[in-house]
Amino acid sequence: MKKFVVGNFKMNTTPSEFNVYLDEFLPRIKDCKANIMFCLPATHFCVAKSRLEATNIKFLAQNISSEEKGAFTGEISNVMVKDCGAYGTLIGHSELRKRLKETPESINQKIIRALAVNLKVILCIGETKYERSTKKTKLVLKRQLDTALKGLYENELKNIIIAYEPVWAIGTGKTPTAKEIENTVCDIRSIIAENFTVRSSEKINILYGGSITESNFGQFVKIKGINGLLVGGAKKKKKSFANICK
Ligand code: PEP
Repeated sequence: MKKFVVGNFKMNTTPSEFNVYLDEFLPRIKDCKANIMFCLPATHFCVAKSRLEATNIKFLAQNISSEEKGAFTGEISNVMVKDCGAYGTLIGHSELRKRLKETPESINQKIIRALAVNLKVILCIGETKYERSTKKTKLVLKRQLDTALKGLYENELKNIIIAYEPVWAIGTGKTPTAKEIENTVCDIRSIIAENFTVRSSEKINILYGGSITESNFGQFVKIKGINGLLVGGAKKKKKSFANICK
């Protein structure tokens, strides 16, 4: 099974800079077998649609609105994102949970909206430093997953990828050990099994994200139960990100 390598651009690069990024990045990953995805600002969709069409790279939004349409200035809806050619959307990134006070309920609403128009979802979950230090990681992940996946049918899980991203590991240079990630991924699968079935818990794709670099990615990609990586900062360097993909 091909591994996923997802690059989250966050609020970095202009569309023109992204165009130049692709000039250098695409030749480097020509024969790459990984399932590569870019999570992009909406301003980049036009460039992405024309430049990535002939490649195996898919692009996703970094967020969508929990509302369908109407007086929601500054927001972007599921159908808008779909119409631009996006493959899916990231939902529940911890930077949005923190800065925009994203709630578990709005995350659930966004997932339902995404699936309604056939957008794939990368659902980010993860514990804070405090939650980890008070040994609440499993409880927190359970709460996040129970609410996020509420009301979904089991067959919809094939359109969802879970990204385990400890909040304290994002952009900090700190990471859990491989054993800790393996245990947490096991917990995530058991929560999915409780909510759905063992079969679906075995099939769902789970990524690890948080301070992955060109020098440490090897240990994460080998972890039992991990189907790929979500990379933020390291994807700024085209060469490093291309090497991780390869
Ligand atoms: C992220 O933003 O999802 C992320 C994993 O960032 P970083 O790789 O910089 O920790």
